[in-house]
Amino acid sequence: MIQKIITNKCPNCGKGHVYKEKNIYFNFKKPKMNKECDHCGYVFEKEPGFFFGAMYVSYALGIAEAIAVFIIGTFFFESTFDLRILPWIIITILAFSSFNVRIARIIWIYLLKGI
Ligand SMILES: [Zn+2]
Repeated sequence: MIQKIITNKCPNCGKGHVYKEKNIYFNFKKPKMNKECDHCGYVFEKEPGFFFGAMYVSYALGIAEAIAVFIIGTFFFESTFDLRILPWIIITILAFSSFNVRIARIIWIYLLKGI
């Protein structure tokens, strides 16, 4: 399932794609989604504002990444709360921001399909 999420696959058939663009990782353009699966016709956006909740997934991912950088940073800096880690956290969040927005929507589709 994680493999399907990171490869931008439809939660229903696992063959169609959620996003029109192939590069969903480092792409800072506006995300272009398919309205429905091009293979099985599964509708991704159930209702207007369906992806509002995906924002929270995106925040959670951003926080998880910040914590990961922070933990890695503690191996490189002498004190645990060294402020020099902050720019690295910001760079990481910015670098992952486009990826987070896209992957969060896919995770959201998968989460709500499971309920
Ligand atoms: Zn499908």
